[in-house]
Amino acid sequence: TVAIALFTQDLRLHDHPVLHAARNAADRVAPLFVRDPRVDAAGFAAPNRLAFLADCLADLDGSLRAIGSRLTVRRGDTAEETARLATELGAATVHVAAGVTAFAQRRENGLRTALGDRLQVHDGVLTVQPPGRVTPAGRDHYAVFTPYHRAWQQAHRRPVLPAPRALHTPEDVPGEPLPTAPARGVSPGLPPGGEHAARSRRQHWDVDGYADLHDDLAADATSHLSPYLHFGCLSPNELVALAERRGGPGAEAFVRQLAWRDFHHQVLAARPEAAHSDYRTRHDRWHHDEKEAEAWRQGRTGYPIVDAGLRQLAHQGWMHNRARLLTACFLAKSLHLDWRIGAAHFLALLVDGDVANNQLNWQWVAGTGTDTRPNRVLNPLLQADRYDPDGTYVRRWVPELAAVPGRAVHRPWQLPDRDRYPDYPDPIIPPDTLTQRLRSARGLD
Ligand code: FAD
Repeated sequence: TVAIALFTQDLRLHDHPVLHAARNAADRVAPLFVRDPRVDAAGFAAPNRLAFLADCLADLDGSLRAIGSRLTVRRGDTAEETARLATELGAATVHVAAGVTAFAQRRENGLRTALGDRLQVHDGVLTVQPPGRVTPAGRDHYAVFTPYHRAWQQAHRRPVLPAPRALHTPEDVPGEPLPTAPARGVSPGLPPGGEHAARSRRQHWDVDGYADLHDDLAADATSHLSPYLHFGCLSPNELVALAERRGGPGAEAFVRQLAWRDFHHQVLAARPEAAHSDYRTRHDRWHHDEKEAEAWRQGRTGYPIVDAGLRQLAHQGWMHNRARLLTACFLAKSLHLDWRIGAAHFLALLVDGDVANNQLNWQWVAGTGTDTRPNRVLNPLLQADRYDPDGTYVRRWVPELAAVPGRAVHRPWQLPDRDRYPDYPDPIIPPDTLTQRLRSARGLD
């Protein structure tokens, strides 16, 4: 008998319920990945993510070959290609992870139509708790993080599954060569993709310092595991199990962030339209100014801490969480630009760019989402003083200001020798206008 293990956002061998179920269902398993042009058309396939995906697939194929199997890659509509391969191989079952986005839900419907009872969808592959498992009485999802987190901590977790040591695969499964990285548009500092890179990063990262240092921009002490979680090179379920075994405040704080990830996924699964429309508070009084939007995208707002974040994004395809928060807040609450403009820019560059995490974090910051204090504001200057107290993060990413010592780098307009930095722009809105706008966003005016 033959089973197909259809890989999507779960590009790993460890702790993999799909692969595990396929192996239990048949004596030969065909691992399949479909490059679906509709994924690209939906805007999810940015150059950074395509480059990372190419690494992930090469790594997965290598791992499969090491246990006697290999990855088949096909191109086309996922449901059609999978059904075609199932016919070619006479596969009795097809196994796939349950998805969360509207796109993934449509793909699953297509697979069900094409395959009927042969399709087996597995929960708890992409998140620790599947959307819909941890719910308040009478509702389909939690709208507030704190009670979700409490219930999430109590919920049963499935045991971690070992990676298979051997996998028998049918001979000569026809497929295409593995995809390669796009030639252009890839950030120069992109991390390597794949399960091996993910596990190595996890092993070398020190979770113990996380509680104290996760907000420190210059220390850059967060895990950088988000791209690996986005592509499923690491299982979040395994990460929680490892962190709990380790214990301590760092591990606890880290697990809490993984709960945030699950939280956003369960919101999006229940309200797929929240990817585009305001989740809670309708806010349609956005200001339109393409020049301001472009200055923000380019990291040329004249507010160094904001520009540093946006330039880190361009260079690495990744940004520190604290910088994501303050650059997003600057766009929505200081420039009054529509959060969708910022979210689209993030999605075009982030290697971890994820509909659930990106769109719902943007909504949280913009005050249209799940934050119970939608008027919350982050003053970029105070954030800079607090999270980059001696200006190291700014000097790292804004070379025009690299010679300015200490925290003076956060307010270049106050420098006595301002004319020594002619390449750095003046503030896009004057600092007193910034303060005024933040006051009115908080409802103080
Ligand atoms: P760590 O601090 O080491 O956290 C561990 C893991 O927990 C992360 O890898 C991530 O999977 C998860 N996590 C941490 N914080 C959050 C959070 N607030 N929401 C959901 N999951 C979280 N994260 C993405 O994975 N993809 C996105 O597209 C994305 N867009 C964002 C947009 C905005 C405006 C904001 C404010 C945050 C966004 N985040 C996104 C969440 C967070 O910034 C990143 O997950 C984090 O910076 C990744 O770095 P890390 O792996 O070192 O995180």
